[in-house]
Parts: sequence; C-alpha cells; structure tokens
Amino acid sequence: MKILPGIPVSKGVVIGRAQVFDASSRPMPRRSIPPDRVDEELARFDEARERTIASVQQIYDGARDEMGEDAAKVFLFHLGMLKDPQLVAPVREMIRRDRVSAEFAVSEVFGGWERRFAASSDSVFQTKADDVRDLADRLISELAGESSQDLGDLSGRVVVARDLTPSQAVQIGRSGAGAIVTALGGPTSHTAIVAKALHLPAIVGCAGVTREVQTGDEVIVDADAGRLILAPDEATRGEYARIMARRRTHMLGLDEIARLPAETTDGVEIALHGNIEFPDEVRDVLRVGGSGVGLYRTEFLYLTSPSEPTEEEHYRAYVRCLELLEGRPLTIRTVDLGADKYTQSREEIPERNPFLGLRSIRLSFHRLSDFKTQLRAVLRASREGPLRIMFPLITSIEELRRARLIVHDVAEDLAEEGERIERIPPLGMMVESPSAALMAEQFAREADFFSIGTNDLVQYTLAVDRTNERVAHLYQPTHPAVLRLIHQIVRAGQSHAIPVSVCGESAGDPEYALLLIGLGVRTISATPDSIPALKRAIRSVDIRTCERIADKALTLDSAPEVATYLRDRARKVVPEAFDGPSVE
Ligand code: PEP
Ligand code: MG
Repeated sequence: MKILPGIPVSKGVVIGRAQVFDASSRPMPRRSIPPDRVDEELARFDEARERTIASVQQIYDGARDEMGEDAAKVFLFHLGMLKDPQLVAPVREMIRRDRVSAEFAVSEVFGGWERRFAASSDSVFQTKADDVRDLADRLISELAGESSQDLGDLSGRVVVARDLTPSQAVQIGRSGAGAIVTALGGPTSHTAIVAKALHLPAIVGCAGVTREVQTGDEVIVDADAGRLILAPDEATRGEYARIMARRRTHMLGLDEIARLPAETTDGVEIALHGNIEFPDEVRDVLRVGGSGVGLYRTEFLYLTSPSEPTEEEHYRAYVRCLELLEGRPLTIRTVDLGADKYTQSREEIPERNPFLGLRSIRLSFHRLSDFKTQLRAVLRASREGPLRIMFPLITSIEELRRARLIVHDVAEDLAEEGERIERIPPLGMMVESPSAALMAEQFAREADFFSIGTNDLVQYTLAVDRTNERVAHLYQPTHPAVLRLIHQIVRAGQSHAIPVSVCGESAGDPEYALLLIGLGVRTISATPDSIPALKRAIRSVDIRTCERIADKALTLDSAPEVATYLRDRARKVVPEAFDGPSVE
C-alpha cells in the first residue's frame, strides 16, 4: 500500500479501478512521403481535420442537450482552434515542403506551440499548452483511424492524468467516471472548478501519479483529505467501504436538510447562496437548498464562446438565471477575465505577471465598450428580478467610483433610447486584494455591499499563486493575516450597515464557515455541492459558539494552529460532518 498526497478540490471518497490518460501518443516518428503522394497526404490531413471538427461538433451538440447550452460551449472553443489558419496552415506547409506524414507534421507543429506555451513563465500560457495537446491528440487519433477521444464507458473509473483541459474534464464526467486525479493543477484551477460543478471527487497536484498508477490498478481516492491510496490493504479498503456506505446515509440526511432553513440553534438565519458559472447551475443551487446566487462568474460567457458575447447573449443568460431563481436574489459579477481566466480571443500582449496585470475591472476599463455591453444587458435584466452588480478586484476607491459612474452612464444611454431603468441595482465590490481590505472603512461608505473573495485575497496577501501546485502548501486561508483582514472587512461593513458576504472556496468548508459566522458574516456563497454540509453545520451551532471559535482563532499565531483548532472544534460541534478515516 502506498499513499500519494495531493490537493483535494472536490470532495468525496471513491474506491475504483484506474484509467490512465496518457498523452504519450507524441512525438510521432518522422515518416517520409514520396513526392507523388504529397497531395494524397494533404487530403488525408484535411479529411482528418474535417472529421475531428465533426466529432467535436457532435460532442458539443450532445453536451448541450445533456448539460445545457452554456456548459457545452467550451467545445466551441476547440472548434475555433481547429479552424484557426495559424495552426492549420503550417501543418499543410510542412507536409508539402518536407514531404512528411500528416501525423508527424501535426505532432511537430502542435508540439512546437505546446512547448512554447509550456515553457512560458506565465500560467495563462501554460494552460494553453494543454488545449493544443488535446487537439493534436484528437487529430492524430483521427489520422490513425481511431477515435481515442470517444472515452467509452468510464463508469466508476478513477481517471488519472497529468492534467486535463476543462473540456476533457467535462467529457470524463459525462462518461460516468467516479473520480479524477491529476498530477498538475492548483486548488482553484479550471479542472477543479469543473470537477466541482460536475460533483466529481477530484484531487489535483498529485505528484508522480501518472508514473505510479497503471490502468486497471485498484485505488482509493480520498478527495476529502487529499490522498490517493495505491494497492490498498484489506483493512484500509474495508474502512473506506464503510465510510462510503455511511456517506450515502449522511447524504440522504443532507437531502432532507435542503428543505430546512439555514438557521443556527439560537435562531439566527445565515443566507446560503450558490456560486455559479452557468445559468443552468441555478437548478443545482436550488436543489440543495440554496436561497440565491451570491456569485455568478459571468466571464464563463467569454471562456466558452469563440467570440465576444453579444448584449443579447448576456441578457438571455441573466434573465435565465432570474427566471430559475423565481424571485430569489442574484449577484452578477462583471467579467473577471485575465490571470487564470484567459479568453480564447487571447491577449495580444503576453503579460509577464498576469495576476498583477491587466485583469478583472482593469481589463473592463480597458475594453470599455465590452464592459458597457455587459452593463446594458445587466441593467435591462434588472427589470426582471432582484439582482445586484458586483465589480471584481477593486483595489482603489477611484476604480469603484469609475465603475459606478459607468453604470450610471449606461443607464442614461438606455433612458435616451427609451429603455428607462427605474432603479439602479445595488452596486457592490469584491474585496479580494489587501488594499481593498485595509481600506474597507472607506470603501464601505460608497459600495452598496461587499463580497469577500478569499481565493484571491489569500493569494495576494500571502504572495502565493493560487494555480501553482508547487506553492499550494503555502496557500493557507487560515493564515492569521487573512483572518485579520476578513475581520476588518466585516467590521467595516457592519459599521456602515452594508451587507458583507464571503464567496471564495474556503467559505464552502464547514469548519471555515463557523469561523466566518463567528466573525460576523451572515451570508455565505459557495459551490452548490457544499451547501448541504454547510447547512447541517449551521443548524448544529449557536452564534455564541461561533464567536468563541473566532475569538480564539484570532489569537493564534500560525495557519496550522488555526487549522488544527478549527478542525478540533468543528469535530466536536458537528461530528458527523467530519467523518474521516485514520489512514496515515
Ligand atoms: C475569489 O477570488 O475568491 C473569488 C470568489 O473569485 P474567483 O475565484 O472567480 O477569482
Ligand atoms: Mg477573485
């Protein structure tokens, strides 16, 4: 028995057989073509590309039916690349000029792009490498007459890979896989976000996994604790089998709990909202008993579409959310592109340090007309239901003022066109940079609400790239510096009577949520999956207990001390929510 540690990103425990995804189909051997066969080879490439386009189109159509338009749109991005002359022309040129096989030309040209992207110090470009590799594999499989991208039935299988693109993760989920384990990736990478959206237990950053595991091996994925157990012994296997059985019972209880209010034992209501990337996910939020959407990441409209979304596309997405919410609140965050959230239209100028670059609200100011297009759609949609507008990564009061002013300008434009907006929705901000946290008092005078984004707040406070698995151990939401900033933000919100919510991934962790409630937070927005367990924890405590937890946590000196303290306390308060094995 051997245990490989990794970063747990989507909870669950699964015992299953591994299915290793290996990109070792390339580099392909160089195969020369006689001069009189070059045209034939070009035709073979063109046909394979056409077939690849058709198969991706088919995947897209199927995914759209099963998962809704928005979730499926990620495949449109791959279609766009397959039609991109920048990738296609050099392959044809190489076949013609060097008289080599189409497989070799694809492997060389795509491989060159892949290596360039992978070698970049910029994590945005590193992610592109996976997309290029993904497409090269599809093409080479097509040329070989295989359809390796048809993953077949993965029922219950534990998919092991070096890394996955979001589209591969979606496809794996659809093929019935039981869990995902990747060697690369960080806690807030797109693979992590997609795995969560699909309710697939997942571990990322599991170094050495593709070397250690072979297809067919029995493994245990403990995506609660972040460990992959290879060749489990009988006792461990039995222990995990019992946990899975107990978990099923526990989940039944959680289903029932979805219908009950998120109220502490002393009657204080905590609003539990969901984070979504696609409108149809509102259904997931409501199914698990969420009472609204606290974070709609609208940049996913861009990430899954080959071109800029139109005002109508924005509008339809927002109205769809409101319809599904039936009067419950919706917080729309304006596009938060850049850094880890790249678009397929790509930046013309690669940035050396994209997390500190032209991203989020800065990018919206830079692309003012796209920003206004989005705001027009949001304001028009605001007539259909209760929504709030939230700006990402505000770091200075000028940015908040400017963003608010632009909303008012857009409302005036609409009024001039005869589309009067009677009431401008509440205009709030993400507090996710140390500067915003430290200046929360000032911001609270002008913002209508705050939402604390712990994903970025932790990364910027601790100088730890949230997507870099090599420093994932330093990514510590329980760091006392982070706790102090959150405390300061909440107090500023209270003193100006504006709502403060928390919407980073940490808020979905019941242990952390008890701390947040103790610090004064009364609205939590988390991935739908985490809502039932949050509700159970909330319904088991009183506010005084949470306050005592927060008071004590604020006196501790280090992240591990805080983490250990929170774990111990939470296990005492809600033991059934923290049912873990004792495998060391
Ligand atoms: C955050 O930064 O905590 C957050 C919720 O936003 P995102 O993960 O989309 O950056
Ligand atoms: Mg953020």
